[in-house]
Amino acid sequence: GDLAHSMGIKAAQVAMKLIESGMMATVNTTLDFETAALIADEFDYTVENVAFDIANFYDTTPDEEESMERRAPVVTVMGHVDHGKTSLLDAVRASSVTSGEAGGITQHIGAYMVETSAGMVTFLDTPGHEAFTALRARGAKATDIVVLVVAADDGVMPQTVEAINHARAAEVPIIVAINKIDKPGANPDRVKTALTEYNLIPEEWGGSTLFVEVSALEKLNIDGLLEAISLQAELQELKARADRDAQGIVIEAELDIGRGPVATVLVQRGTLNRGDILVSGRYYGRVRTMHNDRAQTIDKAGPSQPVEITGLSGIPEAGEPFFVVTEERDAKRITENVADQRRKEVMASRAKESAGSLEDLSAMIARGEMKTLKIILKGDVQGSVEAIKEAFGKLGNDEVRTKIIHTGVGGITENDVNLAASSDAGAVIVGFNVRPDNRAAEVAEKYGVQILTHSIIYDAIEQVRGILEGLLSPIV
Ligand code: GDP
Repeated sequence: GDLAHSMGIKAAQVAMKLIESGMMATVNTTLDFETAALIADEFDYTVENVAFDIANFYDTTPDEEESMERRAPVVTVMGHVDHGKTSLLDAVRASSVTSGEAGGITQHIGAYMVETSAGMVTFLDTPGHEAFTALRARGAKATDIVVLVVAADDGVMPQTVEAINHARAAEVPIIVAINKIDKPGANPDRVKTALTEYNLIPEEWGGSTLFVEVSALEKLNIDGLLEAISLQAELQELKARADRDAQGIVIEAELDIGRGPVATVLVQRGTLNRGDILVSGRYYGRVRTMHNDRAQTIDKAGPSQPVEITGLSGIPEAGEPFFVVTEERDAKRITENVADQRRKEVMASRAKESAGSLEDLSAMIARGEMKTLKIILKGDVQGSVEAIKEAFGKLGNDEVRTKIIHTGVGGITENDVNLAASSDAGAVIVGFNVRPDNRAAEVAEKYGVQILTHSIIYDAIEQVRGILEGLLSPIV
């Protein structure tokens, strides 16, 4: 009816055309864009899609090779608790050539840059897996290199393995920093041997992983670590275009009583200028102030540079992308649309029956659209985890297999859910005699991650077999 009206044609004529093309239609039928375009064409009209599309503002096409320049690598430090992540970040920061300069008071803004003899290196200053996976779960690739810290007196521990799995899932190369070599009980070779099991093999043993032995406490061989990072970065040929509107991601954000929303953002390409209109998720604003990691006021920031900015209308989430637009009215329109879309998504995910999505997964496998079912397996004791892992490995056929991307003993945590959500094709979490904590359940619902919990090994195996065979019979 509306389409006919805007073309100045009787609705019955339009309906006739639709019926001729095989679609039963009345004046109240809703047409999709393609159908409307085809029908309008029959009457010599063209239809323009004026629906909101963020792609019109947020350019995701890669820049021309010739326009790009070398940029600093962005590094995240991961590893088991107490193995020295924080100490290492401190030691690296203290080693910076510029740290001794006048006015060089460092300030915690969530990331910092270090000047090394081989160039600048950016460190994300939030050690641990939470930051990394939270960023990844939102599709943000913020890290070029993971430094895996392993204490020489303690060796490979559960979170070491978790870190390896996270880095692998994100396809980020790992440099191993064997820490605490000053300690009497330090045994770097034992760490190296243990890591070969995870395919992290030092060059001197015929592998290709860079290993460095350091002491964060005694500040031993921090240079060696920075050198390894520069070497790895060189291999990756990291480049970005600087002379364009800035894009990047939010590293962290909070509300400051005096200054309003304060966000640390990492510029990934382009140059961010004071006064630019920055859009991130539901919020936007003109960049009012801009500071670097040494609390100095700056006017512009280029690729790989972290800066703290004020001026936004709200507090964006960590991992949220940002970009710059020219017109304030565009910023307003984009953020209103994003807010609207997010509201709808939340409502849709609440409405979604979890069994429905499991069936979708199964149907995808049946149609041959999914070749591996990625699984994160958690259990109450190591023995059952091993047994189930082995049993899952035997499931499947030539077309479809399982792939265990992470196993662990203990409850299902937010980290597990983030890892599942950030796996490219999605992963399911299987819990044996363990359940998700509240936070994990919440995040799982948000991202539509399936958690299957069982207390009988046979049931767990049968359910996964069912999904693989595309013949899902729900076991409750
Ligand atoms: P994180 O939990 O991984 O961030 O570990 P921290 O950096 O907090 O370090 C945990 C403990 O190990 C602290 O007591 C540090 O002083 C100590 N530590 C860190 N690095 C070294 C090191 O190289 N040698 C020795 N002896 N102790 C270290």
